[in-house]
Order: sequence, then C-alpha cells, then structure tokens
Amino acid sequence: MSQKDYYEILGVSRNATQDEIKKAYRRLARKYHPDVNKDEPNTEAMFKEVNEAYEVLSDPDKRRNYDMYGSAKGGPAFGNAGDFGGFGNFESAFGDVFGMFFGDWQRNTGGAKTSAQRGSDLSLEMTVDFEEAVFGADKEVEIARLVSCDTCSGSGVKAGTSPEICSSCNGMGEIRSEQRTVFGTFIRTAPCTKCKGAGKIITNPCDDCNGQGRKPVHEKIKVEVPAGIDNGMTLKLSGKGEAGIRGGRAGDLYVMINVSPHSIFERQGNNLFCHYPITFPQAALGTEVQIPTLEGFETLKIPAGTQTGSTFKLRSKGVPSLRNHVRGDIIIQAVIETPHKLTDRQKELLYELARELGHDVPEESSGGILGRIKDAFGAK
Ligand SMILES: [Zn+2]
Ligand SMILES: [Zn+2]
Repeated sequence: MSQKDYYEILGVSRNATQDEIKKAYRRLARKYHPDVNKDEPNTEAMFKEVNEAYEVLSDPDKRRNYDMYGSAKGGPAFGNAGDFGGFGNFESAFGDVFGMFFGDWQRNTGGAKTSAQRGSDLSLEMTVDFEEAVFGADKEVEIARLVSCDTCSGSGVKAGTSPEICSSCNGMGEIRSEQRTVFGTFIRTAPCTKCKGAGKIITNPCDDCNGQGRKPVHEKIKVEVPAGIDNGMTLKLSGKGEAGIRGGRAGDLYVMINVSPHSIFERQGNNLFCHYPITFPQAALGTEVQIPTLEGFETLKIPAGTQTGSTFKLRSKGVPSLRNHVRGDIIIQAVIETPHKLTDRQKELLYELARELGHDVPEESSGGILGRIKDAFGAK
C-alpha cells in the first residue's frame, strides 16, 4: 500500500494545491467510474486507486504523513506499544481501518492504565529564505499549545487531595457486559462514561488548570532547520505537540517548510540552475565572466565558440545533501543575447561581419547604413 505514488495516480505535482487535487480527482473519478466503463475490467481497480489517493491527499493530516513516511497510516507513532495510549489522536489522522484494529486491541487490554492519552500532534508552516534552506538556520516559531500543568504536575488534582475511585467501573475505566448467543458468549467492553475511562474522579480539581492537568500557553519554540532542506519537507519536533492526558506522552509538532524562491537560482535536487546571458562576441571569442554564487562571485571561463544552451558547472557550490552533506553543483546555462538597439557604427560592423561570413542580411532602405556599406565595399 505504501509503495503507491498517490501524486502519480492523480497526475498532480507534490506541491499541488487542494484545489488541483480535487480537480484531478473529479476528472479521474469520472473517467474510471465503474458505471461509466462497464466493459473495461481494470477501471474498477483504477477507480479504487484514485479514491484511495484522493482520500489521503485531500486530508492535510494524512497527506503530511504520506509525504513524510510514504504512507498515510505509517510513521513513528506506531513504533512501540507505549504509543497506543495515543489512540484517540491517530484515529482521526489514520483512518478507520487502523482505528478499528487498534481500538479493539486497546479496549481488550482493559483497566484504567490505558486511560493515559497521548497529546495531539500540532502542525504549522514556516517560511525560510532560500539561503537558510541551503545553509541551515536556527529559527523560532510561536505556537499556542497545551502544556502539562506545573501546579499539579499534570494530574489535575489539587495539592493534598487525591482522586476518588470511580464507583461505576470500580476504577477499571471501562464497563464489561456479557452477551450470550448461539455462537457463544461475547464479552463487550466500553469506556466508562462516568469517569471517561480514567477510573478515577477528581473531586478537588487543581485551581490552575481546572482539573484538566494541562493549560494553554503561547510559546516560542526553537526550530533547527537542517542545511539542504527543500520546499515542502516537514520537520518533526518530538514532544512539542500538546501535553498528554493522565501521564500520556506529549504529541509532536510538525513544521512544514516553505522555501522562498531565489532571484537567480532555481533548485533542481541539490543542484542550483541559472541562465547566464552572454553576448555573441563573448560566445564567439571566448571570455571570462563573474558568476554569482551563494557565497560570492566565481570566475568562469567561457570558451570560444560557445553555443547558446551550453552548460557549465561550478562544482560543489550547490545545496548540501541532507543525508551526507555532499554539495551539489551550480549549473550555468549560457544564453546568447541579441542586442535590441544598435548604434550606426555597431550596425556597420555587423553588416561587415555578415558580409565577411557570407550571410544574407535584409537590405535597409537606400541612403541608410546599407547604402553606405555598399558604397564602401563597391557592391551593386
Ligand atoms: Zn493543574
Ligand atoms: Zn468509571
């Protein structure tokens, strides 16, 4: 499942907007709808794929997970059993199938010990300069989040008091009921509604957090932007989401990175690409030019006879790889520029050159520059 490229299925780019995704989906859903294509055996499978892709990409949370982990359902959150306490959060993020599976698993383990709930994940977007993305930067973001209450250490209980055991579930946090059927006896368990699964009831709540164990704060959080990060990537800050409930782990903060475009360079993987205009005489005769890089100017030799479209490399002046820090190159593509305006003298020289090269050039009205050139060369 994680092998499929949902972007490819919908035929959209990885930066596609929600609107573009929706349009692509509508078009493909019409195309592959089984009612429309009754005779084509593959359309139903395609229709399913398109729906699956749309379900993930149309949901910002699922899309984020897909972008990061290659799966809408995967990700480190499933790394170990301790994470299952956060079930309530990833139910919404990861869809029904997993929700059902882990939901059952969790309920059957029973007892108030499962009432710990992982804090919600948070996400935000951050824009960084092109240079910051290339060289890395220490940034700060400001977020509003729920943190554990200092006063009660997250318990929600007023100091010197303790919570009461819930009388409905005897502290189990869930109510069991037996159902006898012809197939056997089924035991159903449901979270206790009185204590909301906690097994305990706080009779003397902490004044600072009203018994919630968490309180809202505005906080500045440091974000270390690694050198080489690219537009559309997401950074995960573990534990910087919302505080957990009843001892649950804190959620994570996901920072989606937007990189501002550069005025000259276009990023292509870890290479930086730019067009560099040179004149025809420079291209024909060869020259040295000063090429801007992200770290000042570099001299580049343009050899005689350079054609428009020729490329030159400035090695290791590009973007460092996130994995091994090896830098890409700057790739310069020469574009030969034709002058827009010429002085009479320049025209004269070009006509002379054209004649020397045996090239046809359209004639100007008599008496003008061409007339004089014709005179000078004794042409008819
Ligand atoms: Zn408190
Ligand atoms: Zn209860």
